[in-house]
Amino acid sequence: MVDLVIIGAGPAGITASVYAARKKMDFLVITRDIGGQAALSGDVENYTGYQFITGPELAEKFEEHMRKYKIKLKEDEEVINLEKINDEILIKTNQEDYKTKTVIIASGKRSKELGISGEKEFKNKGLTYCATCDAPLFAGKEVAVIGGGNSALDAVLQLLKIAKKIYLINNRLTLAGDLIMQEKIKQSEIVKIFNDAQIKEIFGDKMVNGIKIKKQNKEEILPVQGIFVEIGLIPNSEFIKYINKNKQGEIIVNCYNETNLPGIFAAGDVTNVPEKQIIIAAGEGAKAALGAFKYLARV
Ligand SMILES: Cc1cc2nc3c(=O)[nH]c(=O)nc-3n(C[C@H](O)[C@H](O)[C@H](O)COP(=O)(O)OP(=O)(O)OC[C@H]3O[C@@H](n4cnc5c(N)ncnc54)[C@H](O)[C@@H]3O)c2cc1C
Repeated sequence: MVDLVIIGAGPAGITASVYAARKKMDFLVITRDIGGQAALSGDVENYTGYQFITGPELAEKFEEHMRKYKIKLKEDEEVINLEKINDEILIKTNQEDYKTKTVIIASGKRSKELGISGEKEFKNKGLTYCATCDAPLFAGKEVAVIGGGNSALDAVLQLLKIAKKIYLINNRLTLAGDLIMQEKIKQSEIVKIFNDAQIKEIFGDKMVNGIKIKKQNKEEILPVQGIFVEIGLIPNSEFIKYINKNKQGEIIVNCYNETNLPGIFAAGDVTNVPEKQIIIAAGEGAKAALGAFKYLARV
């Protein structure tokens, strides 16, 4: 039985771990990876103190800070069930079972899937959900980016110097991402934007070699070798069933990061806290750790 388990090592979980270590709590971090979505961001220009840093560089700095404290870290491990029975919180992962007095759920979000024909078949065979990880594989190629929000625009910007041609397929009438990014993209000669358009099918042989899109009842085939799916995110909250969540599946917390279950805290993108940003997730992680510390002093 430990005092605290932190689930996730993105900005929220890592910051929570730094605060928990400084309070000398007996705790454990269980995570699928280190850095979370921050490690997938291209350029980060809004984390105070760094006017410019790439996502992977910032994630590395977070990790360095966390490891300075010699914490107990279970990496490459996935929580598959979490429940509270009496005063014990039971956590089941794909490898082990744990018991804890408190928990901070900082499991963030993951990419939404398209749910169309060819998606499963061509995953990692030309189709990807991570521009930062995979953009360099598409040097000199024609690619499609699916989406119109910040993640999609970020993917296009990362591809500008790499790809030969970029088709941006946006199902809304106009792009929704930041104007600054939109302006940069609209100035590029290699980007063709399809607004009010949907991707219908993906095809290829061993690898992707085309997509079918539909725009105002007209279908068109685009000869792409790469597809970047950037249509939004869903919270990683399925492993806990009996807790208050909103319609999007985000865990509902109050301003102390408490959920409706005493001892269970949540922080960052997995919660209903508005605005999903690195600096916000980090701040929420700090609050959650302090909240867990005070809770343990009370019970
Ligand atoms: C492409 C992209 C660009 C972005 N650019 C910016 C930007 O420029 N500036 C900015 O401020 N924000 C940006 N963001 C948003 C920012 O990255 C997120 O708001 C932030 O990372 C959220 O932090 P988090 O710790 O709450 O969650 P995440 O970063 O999602 O981390 C979640 C952690 O939980 C782990 N996890 C998930 N499920 C489980 C499980 N079942 N068991 C164990 N571990 C689990 C994951 O492995 C991960 O370590 C961007 C996001 C994306 C995708």
